[in-house]
Amino acid sequence: MSADADCLFCKIAGGQIPADVVRESERTLAFRDISPQAPTHVLVIPREHHRDVASLAAESPDTLAELVREAAAVAAAEGIEAYRLVFNTGSEAGQSVFHVHVHVLGGRAMTWPPG
Ligand code: C5P
Repeated sequence: MSADADCLFCKIAGGQIPADVVRESERTLAFRDISPQAPTHVLVIPREHHRDVASLAAESPDTLAELVREAAAVAAAEGIEAYRLVFNTGSEAGQSVFHVHVHVLGGRAMTWPPG
């Protein structure tokens, strides 16, 4: 799916809503989370609209691979060796924006299990 007119992250990808962009690739965009939960908290999204990571894996596996490579590149650029990648999938799991995004979290100790 290319774009959804009502989707916040499609609007960020399209430049209609501003974001603090840290990295771009052909198929992805990385920007700082507006409400950071760690010293580094960056979201990496595909430019195309897919509702969650399972949809992205089914519909565009190459883009999913690029998303993860870009997440690792964000961590490297931030100088963090240990980081957490999170794909909240479904509202009960904490997904609030239904355009797939991976959270890149780092720069502090992480605990397990997550909340
Ligand atoms: O996993 P979830 O769907 O809850 O993540 C959405 C994330 O998008 C949140 O961490 C929220 O802070 C972030 N966000 C943002 N910029 C916006 C709206 C939401 O960074 N304009």
